[in-house]
Amino acid sequence: MDFIAQNVAELAPSMTLSITSQAKALKKQGVDVLSFGAGEPDFNTPAHIVEAAVQALHDGQTRYTESSGLLELREAIAAKFLVDNGLQYEPSQISVNCGAKHSCYNAILAVVNPGDEVIIPAPYWTSYPEMVRLVGGIPVIVDTKQENGWKLTPEEFEDAMSPLTKMIILNSPGNPTGSVYTKEEMEKIADIAIGEGIVILSDEIYEKLVYVDNKHISIASLSKEVYEHTITINGFSKAYAMTGWRLGYTAAPKRIAEAIDTLQSHTTSNPTTFAQFGAIAALRGDQQIVADMRDEFDVRRQYMLGRLQGIKNVKVIEPLGAFYFLVNIEPIGIKSVNFCEKLLSKQKVAAVPGVAFGAEHTIRFSYATGLDVINAGMDRFEEFCAQH
Ligand code: PMP
Ligand code: GLU
Repeated sequence: MDFIAQNVAELAPSMTLSITSQAKALKKQGVDVLSFGAGEPDFNTPAHIVEAAVQALHDGQTRYTESSGLLELREAIAAKFLVDNGLQYEPSQISVNCGAKHSCYNAILAVVNPGDEVIIPAPYWTSYPEMVRLVGGIPVIVDTKQENGWKLTPEEFEDAMSPLTKMIILNSPGNPTGSVYTKEEMEKIADIAIGEGIVILSDEIYEKLVYVDNKHISIASLSKEVYEHTITINGFSKAYAMTGWRLGYTAAPKRIAEAIDTLQSHTTSNPTTFAQFGAIAALRGDQQIVADMRDEFDVRRQYMLGRLQGIKNVKVIEPLGAFYFLVNIEPIGIKSVNFCEKLLSKQKVAAVPGVAFGAEHTIRFSYATGLDVINAGMDRFEEFCAQH
């Protein structure tokens, strides 16, 4: 007998996570795997953040906090929003959750009714459509074009709209595309969303990882009206190399914030108490560490761009944010899952099949790994492409 609920039975495991664990398992067996799977900074969490959490443990910070997170942390997040994003949120509008993944799910749960449509530009981060399906919503996937920088155009957005549309998910800087929307592009999208009265979920987890002279814009900062339609999501995983700490946050107009707060009070309660003290130290401490990590990612990005551009039969565009390359493998004519399986078995290079991001003719490389791995990995990838 199968006891599994229908909407869970239909879920596939997260491919980003499963490829990474597959690569780790092979490494453990002594196989010389070069992993470009994980979208996870390879740096250690900076020492002063670790110290703050350790100190909190010694100080007995081992009990529950407010369900939406420590007031002191929410105050620090509110201060960050004001300084970095020009956004004014009260601590009561902020909810600290168990990773930005959890923040996304809370936001979707709070807003989307069964039967509501949610517009998701593809290539998308693998978990968005599954989260929408889990709450009974209908993901409406809109293919974007590589020649448009993998960004949703206003026309594509309008065409995807229906009377059932409740939300659009925007992710800039984007995973897996590395694309960064300009202010003008965001304004056009925001105008349509406001005109149709739909909610914008703005996932800004890669905010600190923008390159060249690009600037991250929080869509909610565009106007009071956009603010009233937007749930802003951010977290600590990517900017501070804190993936395992499981800390993300939502900031939303009052009514939505209350709903997220209530929802969290019945599900997870607060995220881990002593981890929250580490997060306060992250926000209040020296931000140079964030810039230093970004600079290191940028060196890898530039190196890898040069290598990928030199490989025949694949197409890349320069990613301007996050830490991914989405490589178009269409000329090779192999499905992305088969391609990645072969790449792993023959060349011992782990990458994520584009099908996980709604982009069948692509594969994703994360460059959150050392230059030595990137160099050797690109040698192997070049050899593989030459043979296919
Ligand atoms: N959004 C995007 C676009 C991501 O790539 C990730 C990475 N996992 C998340 C959210 C979730 O981040 P976290 O590790 O904080 O849950
Ligand atoms: N966001 C990262 C990735 O896309 C981590 C894995 C996940 O949470 O999906 O690889």
